Amino acid sequence: MTKVELKGLSQSKLEAFFAEIGERPFRAKQLMKWLYFRFERDFDKMTDLSVPLRKKLQDSCQITDLELKKKLHSRDGASKFLFVLPDGEYVESVLIPDNHRLTACLSTQVGCPLGCTFCATGNMGFARNLEAFEILGQFDFMARLMHPDRMITNVVFMGMGEPLLNTGNVLETIQILNSELGFEIGARKITLSTIGIPDQIEKLAQMGLKVRLAISLNAAEQTLRDKLMPGANKYPIKTLIKPITHYAQNSGRWVTMEYVMLDGINDSPENANQLVALVKDLPIKVNLIEYNTVPGIEYQPSPFKNMVFFQAYLLENQITATIRKSKGQEIAGACGQLRTQIMQEK
Ligand code: SF4
Repeated sequence: MTKVELKGLSQSKLEAFFAEIGERPFRAKQLMKWLYFRFERDFDKMTDLSVPLRKKLQDSCQITDLELKKKLHSRDGASKFLFVLPDGEYVESVLIPDNHRLTACLSTQVGCPLGCTFCATGNMGFARNLEAFEILGQFDFMARLMHPDRMITNVVFMGMGEPLLNTGNVLETIQILNSELGFEIGARKITLSTIGIPDQIEKLAQMGLKVRLAISLNAAEQTLRDKLMPGANKYPIKTLIKPITHYAQNSGRWVTMEYVMLDGINDSPENANQLVALVKDLPIKVNLIEYNTVPGIEYQPSPFKNMVFFQAYLLENQITATIRKSKGQEIAGACGQLRTQIMQEK
């Protein structure tokens, strides 16, 4: 008999599960506290559950933790984790300290079907979507490791994979991260980064989701974007404007356009002008991102002076723009690099 995985079930799903086995809904709250406050895995130690219920859970349920395959530390403080999943696949996560913040970067798929040409994950192909317990399991592992010395304060869905091709499991994870029975990470401290899938963004807007939304744009001109992000060409830039605007209106937060700056590819004054033409008058701010080089991929990071020029040009045009320096360069910081290395060694 396949056992029910309890980690990654949102409160409403857990309540439905307990109802199905003839238990009262408040059991969901009790169980979530054991799972996420105390990191308890042994049903026998969940002492506020009745003995017969503990036995029932033991027989029919499981709580699966991810297994750590490798952990690397960077001089700038970032740590990279490679996890083995129950079926033997690998997935990566990163923990990034920055002053008082500690950010967990999570993956949502094994590989990625979108094939962005500058990305290590995009070059490895796609295996499968992650289950909610596998997405939450990355966070949960890192949170346990840091506990009780330091709390993870922020979460970004910017690891391997496209979150909005796995929306259901990502939303389940967000509910638990955000819940007072889970990890109590405020919605404004959670960022969902996507290439931009219009109907999914519209769905999130209609749901009233409040997390920060970031669109991985990287080029404001369609032909160049198609070259950099071939899998995104099904979702033309112009079809993103309406759902992004709805999301900003409904969430009360401006949407971020992420722009990874590539030397000689998308960092010219003309590219800056195209970006201004696209985003001016929209509820959008721009994050210019330093590129992390990937072995075997020829793109190089833009010289810092080009990034500064780009930023100044956007600011001159009344567009909020920040520069984000990459962390974890010497530990294969860009998503997918560590998994690629391990797969090559196998
Ligand atoms: S950049 Fe993101 S969407 Fe593009 S291939 Fe990499 S993981 Fe997928």
